[in-house]
Amino acid sequence: MAGSDALDDWAPTGVDTSVPSIARVYDAMLGGKDNFAVDREVAERIRKVLPITREGAWEHREALARGVRYLAAQGIDQFLDLGSGLPTVQNTHQVAQAATPGARVVYVDNDPMVLAHGRALLAGDDCTEVVTADLREPEDVLSRPEVRALIDLERPLGLLMVGVVHHLADDEDPVGLVKRYLDAAAPGSHLFLTHFRSQPPTTDALERVFLSMLGTGRFRTQEEIEALFGSLEMVDPGVVALPLWRPDATTKPSDGHSDLIAAGAGRKPA
Ligand code: SAM
Repeated sequence: MAGSDALDDWAPTGVDTSVPSIARVYDAMLGGKDNFAVDREVAERIRKVLPITREGAWEHREALARGVRYLAAQGIDQFLDLGSGLPTVQNTHQVAQAATPGARVVYVDNDPMVLAHGRALLAGDDCTEVVTADLREPEDVLSRPEVRALIDLERPLGLLMVGVVHHLADDEDPVGLVKRYLDAAAPGSHLFLTHFRSQPPTTDALERVFLSMLGTGRFRTQEEIEALFGSLEMVDPGVVALPLWRPDATTKPSDGHSDLIAAGAGRKPA
């Protein structure tokens, strides 16, 4: 066991500490403290198959920050972060507001701990909200009062789906779900999305551990990830391994493992 149950008495009410949660496992991979023994066990199993798990998770967070900065540079000043995860460092609102003071951000996650921790982090910030909702219900998400208060769907929106669509199964229609969000968004809106990329046989063992312990979803091929962008105009360089997506001075070159996750951005035409 990677951690001790004795340290886990602090669970917020309503949080089941006997079942791993995607948000808490990801926090454990990043080296955070908002996780329980059951989550650390999954992170440890994943680390056995993929020793660079922690570095990979941080590369992923850095790609999220580059995506937000790129969208902000296109004039986007409102973001809907679907499957936002537990707060850590360089959260979307911090990156967006550093680029554009007053940028508005709504975090959406179906894990109740994200709301509990997000509220604490965001006390006094009128430009950022956290909503507990299921991203598989776009009409519900988009009609939430917190979303309506901060996001104007008549203006370009930054839609972020980072590390979450690979948790959706095919019968949950990921292509159709992304389209329903984009149909509701104004021209000029952008999608930034990252996704585990299947490269059999290299990724088979990782995918098995990952999905058997965390539930549904699957890794997808390059073509399947590209299809998620539908009719958007793709931003250069298209869908590529994380370190190749608009790297900056701090981005480490690909080490082969980092090809596991692909990133891409697209723009909704007029
Ligand atoms: N986007 C964040 C990042 O890149 O750091 C977090 C990624 S984490 C791997 C995936 C997140 O998606 C988790 O916090 C999980 O709770 C959330 N999630 C998974 N399925 C979801 C759903 N159907 N609706 C809303 N959130 C979901």
